[in-house]
Amino acid sequence: MAFITKYTLNKLCADIDLDFQTTVQDFENTVFNNSQIYYLLSSRQNLYLFVYASLLKDIGGFRTKYFQFLKPKEDRLFYVNDDSGKYKYHLSMDCPMMNNNFKDFVIPTIIRQSGVEAIMEFRNWWSAMGFSLRFVTQEITLEKIKEEIIAKYSQKYGPNIIGTEFQLYANIPNTGNLNIEDKFDFEEFKIELNQLIKEHDINFTDEHWRNFSKLSRLIHKDDSEIIEILVDKYDEIKIFDRFEYKFLKNKLLIADNLKSQILMLMQKYLRWNYEFSKIDFDIKTLNDFGLECCKNCERSS
Ligand SMILES: [Zn+2]
Repeated sequence: MAFITKYTLNKLCADIDLDFQTTVQDFENTVFNNSQIYYLLSSRQNLYLFVYASLLKDIGGFRTKYFQFLKPKEDRLFYVNDDSGKYKYHLSMDCPMMNNNFKDFVIPTIIRQSGVEAIMEFRNWWSAMGFSLRFVTQEITLEKIKEEIIAKYSQKYGPNIIGTEFQLYANIPNTGNLNIEDKFDFEEFKIELNQLIKEHDINFTDEHWRNFSKLSRLIHKDDSEIIEILVDKYDEIKIFDRFEYKFLKNKLLIADNLKSQILMLMQKYLRWNYEFSKIDFDIKTLNDFGLECCKNCERSS
């Protein structure tokens, strides 16, 4: 028996980087029978939904068919836990780590800058101290962890061992238990989805604007970078002779916003459609995807 949280499912799907292009048929068969969404979303977003649906539908089948396309994920040496794909699965739905699936703790900047050896030493110490579990079970506070880090490392790295990264600890989201699935109403879902598609049609009226909408991810870049890319891409039509940057940026923002809403809605639908809260995943398959058993569950089993 193995369970994963919504958080882990989302992360896993985002990390599964396939060298593979989903077709409209793949989308309609596995995700949702509506080609409008497929043509509206970017290929990356379509792939994400395709992986999301496939894992829920039949994770073993997905492994057999697509494993060869999978690119390995690297540990960024940023978090306390190795994030090269070691997400956790749980053997029991009652595991406290499952109910508080927190974002990982960030390794203090000074240590991160001191090289791999220092990072590994810190990680080992963190693990030996059991901070993650103790934090989740509310046995220890962030303040106390901070004190422990200072006590242990200030001599080596100076009194300002804790930098701004400690603020990140405070933002650890509680994604909640997978038992508490959002309520889902299929009819309402279809209405909401059509509304979003309609809004997109109103804002992106012809083929040119619809292609422009595909660039929505640019909105996460700096202004100078966005301008550079647009100038380059629309070199022939001299886009900035026709439209002001402010207007174009707003268009990107609208597109990005609508697509994010569609993605969220589709994920909700897929979890409902494939009954995520009841899925008992196969342990061997999860191991193949680089997940490992939660330490707390391992000890209790
Ligand atoms: Zn667990």
